[in-house]
Amino acid sequence: MSEQPLTSTSVYRRQVPETDFKKWATAARLELQTYIRQLPDVPSKRGPLEDISKKLSLLEYAMVGSKSESTAREEFVSWLEEYDTGGWARFADERARLETARKQEKEEKDRRSTIAGAPAEAIKLTKKYGAGAGVKVGTVIAVLVHAKTGKLWSGTSGEYTTSEKHPLMKTILTGVVQVEDWPVAACGEVAAMNAYLHDSGTTDLSQLPSGTLFFHAQTWNAKDGKWQARAACKNCDQWLKKIGAGRV
Ligand SMILES: [Zn+2]
Repeated sequence: MSEQPLTSTSVYRRQVPETDFKKWATAARLELQTYIRQLPDVPSKRGPLEDISKKLSLLEYAMVGSKSESTAREEFVSWLEEYDTGGWARFADERARLETARKQEKEEKDRRSTIAGAPAEAIKLTKKYGAGAGVKVGTVIAVLVHAKTGKLWSGTSGEYTTSEKHPLMKTILTGVVQVEDWPVAACGEVAAMNAYLHDSGTTDLSQLPSGTLFFHAQTWNAKDGKWQARAACKNCDQWLKKIGAGRV
């Protein structure tokens, strides 16, 4: 960039967009008004922001008439340079805060919907075994989801015992005490985790993404003749906790 007069690089000039000023002005004024309503009703708090809001309002009105967007923008920037008493910086902070909050909310929503892929996939798999546990499938179908990538791995109870066992799966299960009626290695979660370890190329436990792996299990209810979501298995809970995984 070549040298420019000081005013051309003022914070106002940099932050007020050069194009679509009319649209921007309306959006900014609405945000300002919402922000002002949240502030204590005292002139020192609201005054500097109300002044900006009023100026925008006047310019919006003028742009409906004959004033061009570029002239209105120039007038607004010059007005801020001359009359702003700190309201602009507070508004900029508030906008940044809102933007961060919106981003976080979206990320959280995306994460929740990604994690929901595990129960959806498990239920889909149960449809393959409508007749329930038997020769082809054990009493549990477990699905593991990676909360960031949405990738899925599945396993059924008993599957691990006949699978190629990843060395780290043995490490993970070391020290896990059998507290249920079934052996620790029998669970569908173990088979799903074993599949994940092979597929992800994990070579060390420290590479496991803590807080990112979530399991969902469906179990065959022989009495009612249907698959249903299964809550905790106290065998698996021990190693899930160890690797920072959760249930969904
Ligand atoms: Zn289990």
